[in-house]
Parts: sequence; C-alpha cells; structure tokens
Amino acid sequence: MSSVVLDKVTKVYPGDYLAVDRLNLRAEAGEFLVLLGPSGCGKSTLLRMIAGLEEITEGDLWLDGQLANHLAPRDRDVAMVFQNGALYPHRTVRGNIAFPLEIAKSDPALVRERVTELSKALHIDETLDRRPGTLSGGQRQRVAMGRAIVRQPKLFLMDEPLSNLDAGMRTELRMEISALVRSLGVTTIYVTHDQVEALTLADRIAILNRGVLQDVGTPAQIYNDPATAFVAAFLNSQQLNLLAANVRTPQNQYVMLDFGPHRLTLPWSDPRAYAISQHTGGQVLVGMRPDGLAPVPESYEGPSFFGRVRTLEYHGHEWLAYLECGMPAVPVPEPPDPRVRLNGEKNGSGKLAGLVRRLFSSPAHEQEHQDQEQVGQHPNSGIHRRSDLIVRLGNRPVWRAGDAAKVAVDLSRVMIFTLDGARIDPPRR
Ligand code: ADP
Repeated sequence: MSSVVLDKVTKVYPGDYLAVDRLNLRAEAGEFLVLLGPSGCGKSTLLRMIAGLEEITEGDLWLDGQLANHLAPRDRDVAMVFQNGALYPHRTVRGNIAFPLEIAKSDPALVRERVTELSKALHIDETLDRRPGTLSGGQRQRVAMGRAIVRQPKLFLMDEPLSNLDAGMRTELRMEISALVRSLGVTTIYVTHDQVEALTLADRIAILNRGVLQDVGTPAQIYNDPATAFVAAFLNSQQLNLLAANVRTPQNQYVMLDFGPHRLTLPWSDPRAYAISQHTGGQVLVGMRPDGLAPVPESYEGPSFFGRVRTLEYHGHEWLAYLECGMPAVPVPEPPDPRVRLNGEKNGSGKLAGLVRRLFSSPAHEQEHQDQEQVGQHPNSGIHRRSDLIVRLGNRPVWRAGDAAKVAVDLSRVMIFTLDGARIDPPRR
C-alpha cells in the first residue's frame, strides 16, 4: 500500500499545451480514489505521470513519502490497467496472469496458488486454459486485471477499465473491482468520465476540468455539497436547475432570492444567510436538483414555485416534469481556462456575468431576445431548456401536460453560487 501525494503537479505538452495545472491531491494508503471529469480534462495524463509513463513538467510526486518524479516505472511498484487491457494472444489465461510472477522468477507453487486464488475472485477460473481470442470483452478485462494485480503492487492504477464493456457487464465488473481491491487493501486510483462509476466505487472523488482540480471529497460530499456549479452539474444524472436571482434583504428582516415572478426567503438563522446577504443588490446563481423539488397542492404555503407543465418524460424508474415557470434557466458557468496562463488570452467567465446582469436590467421584449442569444452562444447551450424547471416525480405522474403545477422547494438542498459558479457558502469537507 502506497500513499500518493501530488504537489503542484503540472504537465505541459509540446506546443505549450497545458494538460494539468498545479494540481495538489493526496491519496491515502489503501484508499480508492476516483479521478472524474469530462473527456480531455487531463485524467489519463495525471495517471500516466503517477505511473512514470509521462514526464512531470513541474511540481512533485511523492510515493510512500519518497520523491518519485524521476523514478523509473518499474521501480514504482505500480500496476496499471487500461481501457482495452492488451493480453498476450498466444498465452493462455493462466499464462497471462502468471506472466509477471514468472518474469520475477517466483516459486512455481506460489505462482499456481496466486493464479488460482485470483482467477476465482475474478470469476475466470473456468477459462484458465483458454486463449484470450476465445474470451468475451468482460473476461479479457478480468484477465488484464488479474495480471496487473498478481504481484501485489503497492499502487493500482486503472484508466477507464470498463468503458469498452456493455452496460450489464460494466455493472457486474464494477462490483467485483470494488470487492477485489478492497479485500487486497491496495491503494487504487481509478480514472473515469462516468459519474455512476465514480459515485459507486470511490472512497473519495477528485473532479477535474481543463487540467484543474475542481473539488475533492467523498461521493456524498461532492453530490450534496459541491464546491462549484460546474461540479454540481457534472455530478447530476438529470439536469441541474440553475436560475439567476437578485439578492435582497428587505428591512433587514430576512434574505430574499428574487427570481422575478418567484421569490424564496431565508431566515437569518439559516447558516447560509449571512454569506448570501453579502451579495445584496447583486445577483447569484441558485442550483436545485430535480429531486429537491416536489409537487404540492395549490394550498401549500411553504417555499415553492408555480408554473405550467410543458411536458412529462418517462424514465422507467421515475417521471420527470418540465415546468414553464417564467424563470430564465442559465447555462452552467465554465470554470476559468488555465491555458490563459500560458497564452495570455482573456477567459469567458465574465461574459456570463454580463449576460445575467443584462437579463435583470432590460425590458421584457429585449430580455426574451437576450435570453435566446445567451442560450445560443454558450458552449453548454442545450444543457438547460429555457424557462423550464425540471422536477422529479418518482414513479407516479401526478400531473398531465398543460396542468397548473406547484412545487415545494427543499431549502436545505438549494445551492447558491456566485455568477462565476463558485459556492457562496463554503462547502464542508
Ligand atoms: P482525459 O484522460 O481526461 O480524457 P488526457 O489526459 O488524455 O485527458 O488529455 C488531456 C489533454 O491533453 C487533451 O486535450 C489531450 O488532447 C492532450 N494530450 C494528451 N496527450 C497528449 C500528447 N502526447 N501530446 C499533446 N497533447 C496531448
């Protein structure tokens, strides 16, 4: 078991391409850490730097308290599994798994014992005498995993090992990976862009975007208490409702989030009230997950929104309702692009702030126009449907399209961000 410490680790590829920017991260010995983020955010680059397959441009890598920047890959005691674990085609499954031990000239009795043990744990003990060409994708990936882990490395690195498998196989193998690495207690760093894999496998998740660490915490911390709007939106199987609100503190009695046609009030006793009140006279972004909203009767007097049901969607295990509430949904602000550090370009985060400000200060007909302009221009346009609030209904569609609808807002689950997407009240870690 190895602890891994990344201290301001930076990777610049030829052509001044900044792939990882001053990243600080620590994996404790025995921990299962998942690196999650959109494609191209630098996850594999980071993993390859830890393995020693990619040079670190700046910063330090510590493995088990030892500076490892210049340690040869074979001296790091690290095993790696890739997306399509390449196997030796002319060796049997047994021969493939045993290979690293044979190279190390291990005692043949020990080799037999380890291969038998691992093949049982990975449910491939029936295939030991077959060649890789005769196996399914899932079985081949199990063999690759067995071969990687057979010499009991101190650190296990996995780069999207399930992404080439079909959905059923992915679920099955996901559970087995979790059971196996936990029973061995080996420190594991696992790269994926799949949020379900991250939530189900990780002790902690580190979220990256454009080579910058956005947030790190347990799955529950990241889901319930995300550091930024980007993280909240990325870790959401349904779309995140993100609305802009003016902040008011009428006669200093309470904090009001004014959405135009709707308002929410927070008493001063709310732990977030003071931080939000610092934005009085300005705007904030308010994030609500579809399952933080619930249908209520018209007589309900608690915090709520009302609107008309535009459409309902059936998802098998649940229904989603799209409500017209007259509130412009805003796109998720992209975190600043660190590449400006290298090429000095201006980043676009201020542009969104400008658009939201204009929405609040312009007459209604212009607002409609700007609203469309905003949705069309932003790289994430399409993530949010304008003027819609998405509500999770569970497995009974209590409304029909066209119905007037009222939804209760669970204030404890409302997330408040600055216009640039940073959390206003600090997340608890
Ligand atoms: P991820 O694993 O998150 O999909 P990668 O670490 O593979 O992302 O890549 C991060 C960024 O670095 C991408 O934009 C990719 O195109 C770029 N990149 C990766 N490898 C190289 C390379 N050898 N040379 C130049 N750019 C690279």
